[in-house]
Amino acid sequence: MVKFNENYLNIKQSYLFSEIAKRVNDFCEANPDKKVIRLGIGDVTQPLGKLVVEALHGAVDEMGKAETFRGYGPEQGYDFLRESIRDYYKRNGVDIDADEIFVSDGAKSDTGNITDMFSVDNTVLVPDPVYPVYVDTNIMNGRNIIYMDGTAENGFLPMPDDSVKADIIYLCSPNNPTGAVYTKAQLKEWVDYANKNGSIILFDSAYECFVSEPDLPRSIYSVEGAKSCCVEFCSLSKTAGFTGTRCGYTIVPKAIVKKASNGTEMSLNQMWNRRQTTKFNGVPYIVQRGAAAVFTVEGMAEAKAMINNYRKNAKLIADTMDEMGVKYTGGVNSPYIWFECPFGMYSWDFFDKMLNEIQVVGTPGAGFGKNGDNYFRLTSFNNYENTKEAMERFKTLF
Ligand SMILES: *Cc1c(COP(=O)(O)O)cnc(C)c1O
Repeated sequence: MVKFNENYLNIKQSYLFSEIAKRVNDFCEANPDKKVIRLGIGDVTQPLGKLVVEALHGAVDEMGKAETFRGYGPEQGYDFLRESIRDYYKRNGVDIDADEIFVSDGAKSDTGNITDMFSVDNTVLVPDPVYPVYVDTNIMNGRNIIYMDGTAENGFLPMPDDSVKADIIYLCSPNNPTGAVYTKAQLKEWVDYANKNGSIILFDSAYECFVSEPDLPRSIYSVEGAKSCCVEFCSLSKTAGFTGTRCGYTIVPKAIVKKASNGTEMSLNQMWNRRQTTKFNGVPYIVQRGAAAVFTVEGMAEAKAMINNYRKNAKLIADTMDEMGVKYTGGVNSPYIWFECPFGMYSWDFFDKMLNEIQVVGTPGAGFGKNGDNYFRLTSFNNYENTKEAMERFKTLF
């Protein structure tokens, strides 16, 4: 008889977004005349840029002609896209080889799939609060997970602790859900810890384009020593509105080499290449043409203009928190504002209060880990008018 992977029994049911939807639906049914404003959205809302759409159209036309039609592409991504990503990093002062870049259908799949590279017998360190994908994918594999606290005291940026021995470390900066961003000096401590202990850092930089302060690192490879111990995941989802279009990339440096138990050298870059060529057949040519448009100088300017609209919303929310004396992180280099629930409330109770009294929906911090129990996440992905109205209403709570 077949035996199922019983690790799935250990995954916590995720009630977060279904519970939010249920409470909002119940409220709307009971109060059909009330306008609910949603600031819980973790998805972008602005349409794709003009240059991206032109590139997509051009590629569709190519696929419709015998002379330019393409079938299977390289599993790692077309050279034109890998090279344009390399050039984008170079413009930002980071040198990566094109064959260290693997194009994918997004950062979620890759952060999950990378677990294939590691033995079950590894200790995984994740922050709390956390993006749930890192936790659940490791539980599916049966790996031991330990948590490091993100709290107001450390600015929601946990730092390495030499008494804790971790083999695989997940970092996300700018962070979802807290919006906090590590400085270069802080990331250097993590890189030094990993190199000293022979650990790997899995660095999620999905929000790098939201970094507005020039001194803050947007890639882990801007830190010396990172190439021997860090894998970086990035995505066009938040950068250029690709959540529905699907394209991301993962950087696996060739310098990450470990000795196997029998003494054979194993290269993570070669292993990931083998994994992708075996289990993945690449991202559609059409999508890769759209993605390449994003990494041109003009395309990036277009993406930045889009991000600036979200930034204006984030600033409005952050300014409102300042005005009301609410403590928060994020908002400046991130689309997220993470704040302490006013009146000492538990996050689900504060969720109900917001919904019932001002009809603004956010995300209770409890859904991201125990350190989120008394925190709340608002996002800047709605439009300016709605964000403004939501913040006017927010002030009436006090
Ligand atoms: C949105 C998001 C991503 C992007 O995932 P995709 O699969 O590329 O859409 C990755 N990491 C975090 C933390 C995110 O919030």
